[in-house]
Amino acid sequence: MAFVAIVCFTLVAIDFWNSWHARAVQLRQMNVATSNLARAMAQHADDTIKKADTALVGIVERVEHDGTGPAAIDRLRKVLAAQAAELPQLDALHIYDENGNWVANSRQKPPENLNNASRAYFVFHRTHEERGPHISIPVKSRTNGKLLIPVSRRISHADGSFAGVALATIEIDFLMKFYDSLDIGQAGAVALVLENGTMMTRRPYSADVVGRNMLDTELFRTYVAGGPVGTAQIKSAQDGVTRLNSFRRLDGYPLFVAAALSKDEILAAWWRETLWHTAGVVLLVSLAGFVGWRLVQQVELRTQAEGELRRARDALETLNKTLNTLAMEDGLTGLANRRQFDVTLDNEFNRAIREAGTLALILMDVDRFKQYNDIYGHAAGDECLQSIGQTIARLASRRPGDLAARYGGEELAVLLPNTDAAGAAILAERIRSAVRELKIVHTGSSDGFVTLSAGVDALSPVPGTGQPKELIQSADKALYEAKTGGRNRVCISARPEPV
Ligand code: GH3
Ligand code: MG
Ligand code: MG
Repeated sequence: MAFVAIVCFTLVAIDFWNSWHARAVQLRQMNVATSNLARAMAQHADDTIKKADTALVGIVERVEHDGTGPAAIDRLRKVLAAQAAELPQLDALHIYDENGNWVANSRQKPPENLNNASRAYFVFHRTHEERGPHISIPVKSRTNGKLLIPVSRRISHADGSFAGVALATIEIDFLMKFYDSLDIGQAGAVALVLENGTMMTRRPYSADVVGRNMLDTELFRTYVAGGPVGTAQIKSAQDGVTRLNSFRRLDGYPLFVAAALSKDEILAAWWRETLWHTAGVVLLVSLAGFVGWRLVQQVELRTQAEGELRRARDALETLNKTLNTLAMEDGLTGLANRRQFDVTLDNEFNRAIREAGTLALILMDVDRFKQYNDIYGHAAGDECLQSIGQTIARLASRRPGDLAARYGGEELAVLLPNTDAAGAAILAERIRSAVRELKIVHTGSSDGFVTLSAGVDALSPVPGTGQPKELIQSADKALYEAKTGGRNRVCISARPEPV
């Protein structure tokens, strides 16, 4: 069971680890993708502004050198028109004098508003002596209503005093065309932000985001903390989408771009794959679990069956032993029965031949037993036989090989391996005496008690000569002698011992 559990757990753990690793790889790849996106956007914005600014450098130089006389203005108009025609990002190029009054533009017709002194870029240049480019917050064109990013440079008199402003207006639409062409998914976002915290434009686009203050957004704070180049996961305050953001400052201008891809979109493919995986693993684990469970069940059943089989075998063995004992034992006296006696006699006879040993036999017969039955009844006769049997068993079981048996009726026998006739006679005498000492009253006996007679013989069998039954016959003969000799006595067979 533990093995099955470990296999299942390992499968799940490996799949989990794989999926987690795949997720990390996916996020890392997307980090690279957003970084590249930000790099491309920054390059594009840099190029767009740089071209406009380069035109401004030429114009400023020309105005400062040629002045704004009628002939110079006429030539300047042509130059402005030619420049503007070359640069698709431009809405127009303008020149204003030190009072904010319109001097010339690339459109060949005067603007509707002839004074721009209140515009932020104008105020900036009037109050700052720097000659570099200035990028201002987005404005809405008073001529055509387009949203524009003003890029401007200061025009100075020869003495360095303020002489006016050269202005290039970049169409936000131009930037949006590029941003719309980027593949950022459904929930991706890109933005161009002025470093003072003003949103220039973003995708997804809406007119009201242009010029919005970004100082309070997490994106801006993250840029300030981690810029000029960095990556961060940010949850949007506007739509609640968590995005992977990469931001990057432009090389030449105080602007930064941010490119963001939705984390959910990034991980959508990974989720799909993980779901399939998980389904597969669940199926596999269920299968492994089921098969394992069945296997365990089978093993348990087998173990159970084996146990039952063992118990049945043990019971059978016990029964066999009992049957064996019953088959070999005499029911009345508990001594060996005739069958066991015959088998043992054969065995001991052969063993004596093999080992050149002796084998002795005592044959006993209760005296006047027929009469005992007649006087005291058959049941009493049985009881008497039992007592005699116990006495014999007690005296004849000194050595492991000795066997006391009921030979038949009231005839009893003791088989004594490795014993000579004299030794056997001693035991026979002991038995005779002990039976007499039982003092079982028998009025039909001359002695007044139950007694028995015994015939003893022993032989050392030689291979090829003699049979077990010869031993019985000679012992029986000795018994007959004991009977005829007056009963209650032991007689040894007259057969001479082999030399
Ligand atoms: P003897 O002294 O010459 O041996 O006289 P006996 O009466 O004992 O003569 P015999 O040996 O021929 O008698 C055998 C008798 O033993 C016959 C039978 O009544 C009795 N007997 C044999 N087996 C049993 C038994 O299992 N139970 C009982 N109660 N009596 C038995
Ligand atoms: Mg008899
Ligand atoms: Mg008898």
